[in-house]
Amino acid sequence: MHRAYVGLGANLGDAVATLSQAIQDLQAHPKVLSLRASSFYASTPVEADGPDFVNAVVELDTTLPPYELLATLQQLEHSAGRQRPYPNAPRTLDLDVLLYDDLHMADAKLTIPHPRMWQRAFVLWPLQELAPDRVSTDHFAAVASQRVDKMRC
Ligand code: ADP
Ligand code: MG
Repeated sequence: MHRAYVGLGANLGDAVATLSQAIQDLQAHPKVLSLRASSFYASTPVEADGPDFVNAVVELDTTLPPYELLATLQQLEHSAGRQRPYPNAPRTLDLDVLLYDDLHMADAKLTIPHPRMWQRAFVLWPLQELAPDRVSTDHFAAVASQRVDKMRC
């Protein structure tokens, strides 16, 4: 069994509905044994275009190995209508592997921990809800200028 953290983000269409559906789909996956979801957060785009984002993080207990987890996430992005017209374009759904046990790996397809997660307040705040020991005060200090608002849904 492995413990993984996945970052979810959307800023096109009904972002809350899209994230909720992705969380349900992950929960229903036969190789996902349990799932905990953070609150949803609204943030203005960092290095990206378009409307405000809705972001969340989920914790998975899963038997999916890293590449199969990535493939599962990409399938969900695809079924949410994700297109990639150019880097950092607005997206209906973005699913990133943030952490996978204590694994460190980097190749052309998959880097874990996610290389930009420590620069993103919209990852650190929801991650802290689920795994406070994985986020330090130094990490938060680095993103102090980024505004994120916890949503009520
Ligand atoms: P981004 O999330 O950086 O805005 P994309 O979602 O389009 O961009 O992902 C681009 C590529 O990043 C994917 O094809 C995937 O192979 C690669 N990638 C590398 N590491 C990760 C990771 N930890 N989680 C998700 N995708 C990753
Ligand atoms: Mg991505």
